Amino acid sequence: MIEQIRPNLFRITVPLPHSPLKYLNAYVLRGEERNCLIDTGLNRNTCLQALNQGLAELGVDMERTDILVTHIHSDHSGLVPTLYAQGASIWMGGADAEILTQPFDWSKIQDFARINGLPEQELEQAKDSNPGFKFRPRGEVETQELKDGDIVRCGEFQLRCLLTPGHSSGHISFYEPDQGLLFAGDTLLQEITPNISQWLPGENPLHDYLESLSRLHEFDISLVLPGHRRLFSEHRERIEQLQEHHHKRLEEVLTIVRDHPGHAFHIASHMTWDLDTKEWESFPLAQKWFATGEALAHLNFLQSRGEIRKEFDGRHDIWFS
Ligand SMILES: [Zn+2]
Repeated sequence: MIEQIRPNLFRITVPLPHSPLKYLNAYVLRGEERNCLIDTGLNRNTCLQALNQGLAELGVDMERTDILVTHIHSDHSGLVPTLYAQGASIWMGGADAEILTQPFDWSKIQDFARINGLPEQELEQAKDSNPGFKFRPRGEVETQELKDGDIVRCGEFQLRCLLTPGHSSGHISFYEPDQGLLFAGDTLLQEITPNISQWLPGENPLHDYLESLSRLHEFDISLVLPGHRRLFSEHRERIEQLQEHHHKRLEEVLTIVRDHPGHAFHIASHMTWDLDTKEWESFPLAQKWFATGEALAHLNFLQSRGEIRKEFDGRHDIWFS
């Protein structure tokens, strides 16, 4: 489905079957010489058909199109190799581009998951049940790097690149000052809370995310164009809700670490989750992974502030207060 948002600015909604995100918002900015496409959809037929149909209706030729990828997650980058093969040029943040262009080492994630208490027999199964892995971008791609402060010109639009890490470490948002537009990727979403998870050692994604939120709070924005769901204004109100959400979550995790010290998988099992089933044991496997990743983001943040500590017991990282 295509919708015109402003002159020469369109949204194509790309369906994401079975996902609570429902669809991806791909944005087309039409220029005289070249067009821009922001984000693509998963590497699967349903997404490709919807995107292609939208692009054809708008008369967008890939050989005259720059694809700006907000971040590496497959619902945004999945179709990048396909469109690259059709002649598009690909622009994205450096940290995320590295994941796209270099062979991906899943074993690093598995080792980290194992230390954090994910059951051994589920590690391999989890990979195959993860839609982000199943529908990941595949094929050769060359990318051009977007850096914080870079300006991308497209027709009447001047997009300023803002490095807004947290949801991923190389996440880029695009700010258009004349019209007060923010293409927010998954940094700001309405109705759903962006997932902030840790999958690799040495990162502090929640710290990065809270910094990104504070930074975006300062901008004058009249319309937020997010990666999923509906467009919205009042970005400061939404940012304050998200800050509040994470501060409450941090308090909850701190209490759990005090009452039930253990590995991250165990801590996650004590957190409250907004799912149909209340029993941790009956959570779908993918949800247990997401929950553990989210627990880890909060645990690491608390550790970085000296509020909790962790020790390796020979098998697992155990969290204590
Ligand atoms: Zn997304």
